[in-house]
Amino acid sequence: MYIRKRLLLICCLWLTSCFSFLASAQQYDPYRAFAPGFYRHSASVYRSADGSPGPQYWQNRADYVVRAQFDTSTLRLAGEVDIHYVNHSPDTLRFVWLELDQNIDRGDMLQQWEQGHAVPADTSKGFILYAVRSSGRDLTYQVHGSRMQVWLPRPLLPHQDLHLFIRYAYHLQPRGGGGRSGYIDTRHGRIYEFSYWYPRMCVYDDLHGWNTLPFLGEGEFYMDYGDIDYTLTVPAGLLVVGSGMLQNADEVLTPLERQRLEKARRSDATVLIRSTDELATRLHSGKQVWHFQMHQTRDVAWAMSAAFIWDAARIQLPDGKQALAMSVYPEESAGDSAWGRATEYLKGAVEIFSRQWFPYPYPVAINVAGPVGGMEYPGITFDSWREKGKDLWALLAHEIGHNWFPMIVGSDERRNGWMDEGFNTFIDVYASEIFHHGEYAPKRDGEYAPHGGNPADELIPYMTNNLVPPIMTRADVIPPQYLHPLEYFKTAYGLVLLRELILGHQRFDSAFRTYIRRWAYRHPSPDDFFRTMDNVSGEDLSWFWRGWFQHHWQLDQAIQQVRYIHDDPAQGTLLTLENRRQMVMPVVLKITQANGDTLRYHLPVEIWQQGARYEVKLPTHMPLKQVEIDPDHLLPDVDRKNNVWTSDAKT
Ligand SMILES: [Zn+2]
Repeated sequence: MYIRKRLLLICCLWLTSCFSFLASAQQYDPYRAFAPGFYRHSASVYRSADGSPGPQYWQNRADYVVRAQFDTSTLRLAGEVDIHYVNHSPDTLRFVWLELDQNIDRGDMLQQWEQGHAVPADTSKGFILYAVRSSGRDLTYQVHGSRMQVWLPRPLLPHQDLHLFIRYAYHLQPRGGGGRSGYIDTRHGRIYEFSYWYPRMCVYDDLHGWNTLPFLGEGEFYMDYGDIDYTLTVPAGLLVVGSGMLQNADEVLTPLERQRLEKARRSDATVLIRSTDELATRLHSGKQVWHFQMHQTRDVAWAMSAAFIWDAARIQLPDGKQALAMSVYPEESAGDSAWGRATEYLKGAVEIFSRQWFPYPYPVAINVAGPVGGMEYPGITFDSWREKGKDLWALLAHEIGHNWFPMIVGSDERRNGWMDEGFNTFIDVYASEIFHHGEYAPKRDGEYAPHGGNPADELIPYMTNNLVPPIMTRADVIPPQYLHPLEYFKTAYGLVLLRELILGHQRFDSAFRTYIRRWAYRHPSPDDFFRTMDNVSGEDLSWFWRGWFQHHWQLDQAIQQVRYIHDDPAQGTLLTLENRRQMVMPVVLKITQANGDTLRYHLPVEIWQQGARYEVKLPTHMPLKQVEIDPDHLLPDVDRKNNVWTSDAKT
């Protein structure tokens, strides 16, 4: 709806400037909006001034081999993990930090205090650690909430590696892991979803050293890349799906399932791999081992059930490459108005994101219907089994969209939630326009213009609310009621404005694609994003980053006065514009002349560099009917009443 290409007349020659230094009674200080020194970190050998990784950029690597078994009668997951950790930093590490995210379910955790509950520890929840070793030696460790510090027997020197072995267990909660794993009973059996199911390394980086912000539920994750090999021993008869490639399909799938999967790999239409009538076909006693591998990934998650219907279709990627889209869901979720189209949605979203931004790198993409409402993992997403129609499209596109942010572009979600939720919501806005010729367009849902109206208008209650923090606030510091409006909606709409109004499609796309390519499988900071966008687009956008992301500023563009030169319409118009709040934006003007002809002008943001008032001489030759600011209604202008001047009102 708001993706409109219009010819914006840039008519600089005709714009004569006359700056007024009189402070309008308003709250605008150009020296704050256009202040020097926006970036928070100086360029270094690790991060270059133009926003690219520097010549000595480094990040550590974590490879995992995990062997786990799950007992469906006790709900106990018992596992062993071998972590191969490589220190690429120039620093010597005497200890390492790990994430124990299942500990969020223990009663004494920090988030309980944060929410005002003083609850005693429930040690039946969270990780139980049986062994923490390296080279056969027990290591000294301490657990602090969701984090574990392990002291190393010998300092880990630059470019050395470390093997850590941890034996552990935890009990799957109905809704656990910060609401991101759990189980639910359905007509034909229980669905189990597993995430953060093994101890994972925290990230050591050049900006903060060890990143140890606790897991409190809202702020998500920050992980290093590596290869993950995992085997799951579970009761036979359950269908298991997981991140990455199944390694032993011959042992765990039926001949018919394998045959249908081959068909799906060549089919753009969804192929049923396992129907409701066939749910009983794999039932037999004993245990079965499922083996998966995923390369160049931050994490892996998995799910299982006897109740899963299973379907699949091929994903066509740029350069003739292919991947496989799959969905698993219970009978209750089936049907064309619901999960019967889930694979089509997944395939559509992955193809669109791959074409527009960066090719999907993993061999498989999976939707799992289950108790978790909507959560992303590399190559797999957990999504509400109840979702249907347009909401299901939006949910599945969003969750798989996270494979671009933060699974490929590996930003720190706990510090900068907006760099994954907002960037993902932004690419979802355009995917909705494209999918099935806009079947579910425009994107309007809980993430973006939740009341179904114009996003610019729907943002205004947040823009004018002084309790709302800036976007660049840590996820766990943002009050929950503002989390979606800020991280998802305002961030995404900021990028929409940058693409539609400020830079245009070509410059924006070139800069944003460069950002994705530069930082794929790496750890960008906000500065790396801002610097890349500035450098590739060729604009100093600090005024925009400052007003929209760093501060919670408001926008009010106004028409202060319209008059004719020497009171003679034939000689042209003198238009006085005002910027009445601290945020600045370019000005789009639509002039309607007495004969009905219209003119459009795009005034650059620099008109606000020297003051709140700007007078422009328009080369008109007849009386005007109307002058309008922001005629496309793109801007969250807090007072639109002063955006229009009409000749009737004047006389
Ligand atoms: Zn999200």
